[in-house]
Amino acid sequence: MKKHKIISVRNLTSSTFVIRLERNNLQFQTGQFVILNLPNSSDKREYSVYSGEKEDYIEVLVREVQGGKVSAKLKKMTVGMELQMEGPFGFFKFNPDAFECRKFLFIATGTGISPFHGFVKTYPDLDYQLIHGVRLNEEAYEHDDFQKSRTTLCLTGEEGGDFFGRVTDYLYTAQLDIETNCFLCGNSEMIYEVFDILTGKGIPVSNIYSEVYF
Ligand SMILES: Cc1cc2nc3c(=O)[nH]c(=O)nc-3n(C[C@H](O)[C@H](O)[C@H](O)COP(=O)(O)OP(=O)(O)OC[C@H]3O[C@@H](n4cnc5c(N)ncnc54)[C@H](O)[C@@H]3O)c2cc1C
Repeated sequence: MKKHKIISVRNLTSSTFVIRLERNNLQFQTGQFVILNLPNSSDKREYSVYSGEKEDYIEVLVREVQGGKVSAKLKKMTVGMELQMEGPFGFFKFNPDAFECRKFLFIATGTGISPFHGFVKTYPDLDYQLIHGVRLNEEAYEHDDFQKSRTTLCLTGEEGGDFFGRVTDYLYTAQLDIETNCFLCGNSEMIYEVFDILTGKGIPVSNIYSEVYF
């Protein structure tokens, strides 16, 4: 377990922020997560790596959960402070060369967009579609890093996105190529429901990969 100094903190909304940490030679494959330990505490939580494999820093995208033990303390951390990091861990690893069909569908709710941000930063020429479900426009976290024509923002709390409703509502209406490799990340409820929709539309189970946050 190594200490990583905080280089910067970017506030994306009043509750969601990106912490950039010194990389300290940490090797990871995009899609993996790290475990961040709070200083002088045994409390720690998992966070997907938000930055790309080739960047000389490590970023994580964190949403402060109401009453949350660790995320609320991470929100208070500032530049120059240190976090202990374990990892990388996880099997949500992504390398487009490992797939025969190079078409990808990324489906995320909330901060579940984090690994997909790492995917596109690592592989800028990907053939992907991203479907991101959140409540408000302001939660379209750094969508400028994704190609507009490849991104569908699903909003449940207000108008102004590409679709009004949940990602599951959008998927029921969407035409999908059954060869597509589907990556799902976010809360378990969404993942179970999306899994059923995708398999119902003929996508083989072997083409579906998921990362459950909570
Ligand atoms: C593999 C993995 C990767 C993860 N990557 C990220 C990430 O990139 N960014 C991120 O913000 N979180 C991520 N999480 C969730 C993260 O590990 C913590 O669970 C989250 O920050 C809440 O921790 P806490 O100590 O503040 O809340 P806790 O005190 O542990 O829990 C408070 C409650 O909040 C619920 N909860 C947990 N996460 C969320 C959430 N995002 N939104 C709403 N409710 C939630 C829990 O189920 C619990 O009921 C990931 C989890 C896993 C398993």
